Amino acid sequence: MFLDYDGTLAPIAPRPELAVMSDSMREAVRELSRRCPVAVVSGRDRTEVERLVGIDSLVYAGSHGFDISGHGFPLEAEAGGKFRSALESAALELEGRIGDVAGVLIEPKRYALAVHYRLVPQGELQRVEEAVRETARRHTELQLSEGKAVYEFRPRIEWHKGKAVLWLLRALGLDRPDVVPLYLGDDLTDEDAFEALGDRGIGIVVGDLRGRPTRAQYSLADCHEVERFLRELAAVSSVA
Ligand SMILES: [Mg+2]
Repeated sequence: MFLDYDGTLAPIAPRPELAVMSDSMREAVRELSRRCPVAVVSGRDRTEVERLVGIDSLVYAGSHGFDISGHGFPLEAEAGGKFRSALESAALELEGRIGDVAGVLIEPKRYALAVHYRLVPQGELQRVEEAVRETARRHTELQLSEGKAVYEFRPRIEWHKGKAVLWLLRALGLDRPDVVPLYLGDDLTDEDAFEALGDRGIGIVVGDLRGRPTRAQYSLADCHEVERFLRELAAVSSVA
């Protein structure tokens, strides 16, 4: 079972540090992890998502899978280390250009750089976007992606949540015809995972798509439905 964090296990919040998972969701994930391997695949730093979820027995893939570790599993996949200096220089440049804009939150991560603009006033949005795009043009070793009220710079290499999921399946010895991987996620970056799993797995998109196309076969409305789904899945698998 592969789970995204923000918007899937925890409701989207105005600031990333406010996106907290409920105790009952934590219990549902813990219960499921007693029955099958569970990995959390997030855009956040791995150590941060580990702390937020707080269950030792899970596998954690942070920074969209650039940084993977599993408690109890001998996993270590750090693909993005050489891009750290490019990310640091882009962060400095953005601080200089838009650090003074109210509500903008420039968040350096281990293998990415996020620019949150959910709290930026409407009249300043264009200035933020221009600064972000100009910075992207000057740092060609980074690629720019967009999520929900966030721009994100990531190393320009062929690595994303989909690659991470396939890598994990192999690393865990689960790349087998008798294993059905499930992936739950809400955002554009999760589409890479839905696509990577294709027909061999089950993709479940969470939340309102607002008309965007998806590669997922199924959908759940929100985190409450995710929790119920995980609980029912754990209950079914304990019967089997
Ligand atoms: Mg998400």
